[in-house]
Amino acid sequence: MIQDGQLLNYIGGAWRRSHASDYLDVRNPATAETIVRVPLTPRDEVGAAVQTAQAAFADWRRTPPTERIQYLFKLKRLLDEHFDEIARLTTQECGKTLAESKGELQRGIENVEVATGIPSLMMGYNVEDIARGIDEHMLRQPVGVVAAITPFNFPGMIPLWFLPYAIACGNCFILKPSEKVPVTMSRVFDLIDELGLPPGVVNLVNGAKETVDALLDHPTVRAISFVGSSPVAKYVYSRATANGKRAQCSGGAKNPVVVLPDADMEMATRIIADSSFGCAGQRCLATSVTITVSEAGSAFKEHIANAAATRKVGYGLDQEVEMGPVITAESKQRIESLIGKGVSEGARVLVDGRNASIPGYDGGNFIRPTVLDNVDPHSEIAGIEIFGPVLSLMHVQTIDEAIDLVNATSYGNMACLFTSSGAAARKFRYEAQAGNIGINIGVAAPMAFFPFSGWKESFFGDMHAQGRDAIEFYTEKKVVVERWPREWSRKF
Ligand code: NAD
Repeated sequence: MIQDGQLLNYIGGAWRRSHASDYLDVRNPATAETIVRVPLTPRDEVGAAVQTAQAAFADWRRTPPTERIQYLFKLKRLLDEHFDEIARLTTQECGKTLAESKGELQRGIENVEVATGIPSLMMGYNVEDIARGIDEHMLRQPVGVVAAITPFNFPGMIPLWFLPYAIACGNCFILKPSEKVPVTMSRVFDLIDELGLPPGVVNLVNGAKETVDALLDHPTVRAISFVGSSPVAKYVYSRATANGKRAQCSGGAKNPVVVLPDADMEMATRIIADSSFGCAGQRCLATSVTITVSEAGSAFKEHIANAAATRKVGYGLDQEVEMGPVITAESKQRIESLIGKGVSEGARVLVDGRNASIPGYDGGNFIRPTVLDNVDPHSEIAGIEIFGPVLSLMHVQTIDEAIDLVNATSYGNMACLFTSSGAAARKFRYEAQAGNIGINIGVAAPMAFFPFSGWKESFFGDMHAQGRDAIEFYTEKKVVVERWPREWSRKF
C-alpha cells in the first residue's frame, strides 16, 4: 500500500508505516519519473515482523494443509482478476514490455497453482516391520519462520517462487522485495490482505542491505531464500548458514548457446534474439554468448545482426515496443562501459546499441541491442555477467570445442543447443555443465513443478526454488520409530 507517496510494510496482518530514517526513490526506468519512495526498514522493525510471524506459527502449522491451500485458491483468483493491472505496475517500475510483465506474472501464478497440491506433495513415507512389531515413518513438518529476498528483474514472478510453497507447507513467511521494484509486490500484498489469512502468516518488509542483514542475523528466522547477483548470493548464503539457517541462494549467469550447422537458422535466430534482448537482456536465463560451430557462423551472424538492428526499443507500455530500458542510469552506464571494454579487448561491434535516444523519453535508461563479434573466450568480457541487451559471438569448428567453452564459464545457470541432430542433442544434454538445458529453446525456464536448477556460481545451496525441492526446503523431515508389541493388543 502507498500512503503519502511512501510504501508501507505489511506486518502482522496490517499495513504499517516504517520509522526508517532513509528512503529511496523508485523510478520508472523509461520516463525517469519517481513513482514512490521506499523505506529502508531498520533492524528493530524487521525484528517485529519476525516476532509476529513466530507468534502466528504455532496455530498456522496446526491448520490442516487442506485448509491452508484454500487461501491459495483465493490468491490465484485475485491474481487472475487483477492480472492486467499488476502487469502494468511491473512495466512501470521495471521497464519490461507489457507482454513480458504478463508472461512473468503468469509464471508466478503457476507456482500458486502447484502449491495447492501440497497435501499430496508434502506426504511422507513409511515401512512397517523394520523389525518385528516396529514401524518407521517419515513425516514432514514446517520449518518455522522463513524469509525470501528477491531481485529487480522479475518483481511479480520470483517472490511467488517462494511464498505459496512456504505457507502451504505451514511456515510463516517474510518477503523482502528488491528496493528497485517494490510496487508490484505491494499491490499483490493488497490482494493478500483480502485473503483473511491469520495475521503474521505473511509479511512484507521493504529495504536493502540493512534489512536483509537483519533477517540473516535473526535467530528465529530458520530459512532464507535468495535470488540476485552471485556476489550477494554468496554473501547471503555464507552469513545465513553461519547463523545456522537453511539457505537456497540463486546467483547470476552468463548463458552460452551453441548453434550447429544443421540448425534451423531462421528459428534459431528468432529464438536467440528473443532470449538475448527480451527483458533488455536482464534475465538470468538470457543468452549472453552464442557459439557457432563451423559454417553456422556466417549465416547466424548475418541473421542476428538484422534481428538486433530492427528490434523496436521504447517504453514497455507502448504496444509496438519489443524491448524496454534497463533498470537504472547506473546500469546503463555500466553496460555501455562493458561494451567499450569488449572492444578494447579485440571484439568487433557488429551492432552498436550505445547512445540510444528514444524520442519522447530523453530521461530513460535505453540501450539498443548490441552484438559483439569474435569475442575472445579468454577476455574479461567473455566471463562477466553484463545483464543488458548485449550478445557476444564466438566461433569454433567442432561441437567438442563448443562444449569446452560452455563448460569454461564460472556460471552454470543455463546452456542451450540448436540442432536437428538427436545424437548431438544427447551429447550436449549429457556433457554441458549447467542446471537448465535447452534444446532448440532459448530461455529454458523450468515450469513450476520442476526445480529452477542453477549450478556452479549460479547457485549456492542444495535445494532449489520450485518443484519438489521447494517442499524439501520448506519442511523438516522427522523420522519416527514405533514399537507396539503384538501381545499388548491382546489385553483388550
Ligand atoms: P542484487 O544482488 O543486487 O540484489 C538482489 C537482492 O539482494 C535485493 O533484494 C537487494 O536489496 C539485496 N542486496 C543487494 N546487495 C546486498 C548486500 N550487499 N547485502 C545484502 N543484500 C543485498 O541483484 P539484482 O541486481 O536485483 O538482480 C539481478 C541479478 O539477479 C543478476 O545477477 C541476475 O542474474 C540474478 N538473477 C538470478 C536468478 C536465478 O534464478 N539464478 C533469477 C533472477 C535474477
